[in-house]
Amino acid sequence: MSEIDFYDFEKLLDKAYGELPENVKSYRSRFEVPAAQVTIAGNRTIIENFVDIAEAMNRDPNHLLKFLLREVATAGTLEGRRAILQGRFTPYLIANKLKKYLKEFVICPVCGSPDTKIIKKGRFHFLKCEACGAETPVTHL
Ligand SMILES: [Zn+2]
Repeated sequence: MSEIDFYDFEKLLDKAYGELPENVKSYRSRFEVPAAQVTIAGNRTIIENFVDIAEAMNRDPNHLLKFLLREVATAGTLEGRRAILQGRFTPYLIANKLKKYLKEFVICPVCGSPDTKIIKKGRFHFLKCEACGAETPVTHL
């Protein structure tokens, strides 16, 4: 049972950060994703604030859960604000998977803005950035 500091997505943003104009840099300050509150109960792992995390990312909790379950190769469900995963997973692992999700499905790789949405064109999905207009193909959705 523990709480973790939020990832190093700050670092991820810093990487793109150096080359950015001021108006884009301002996105950084208002984007906050809460740290996952992970509880292990018996043979289950509970992420207490799962829906809060998805909402902070502005993504569908079901999509985030689907991604997470595939990443850690288990089954699980949403229950209220919580996600319940079969099996025992460390907070560190969960944090890393959430960070991966951010990188693949939330943060614009061109400008580092989290102000994005997922759009569909034909058979393909793209991460569309509201800040810089970039459309980046996303893999498995
Ligand atoms: Zn962008």
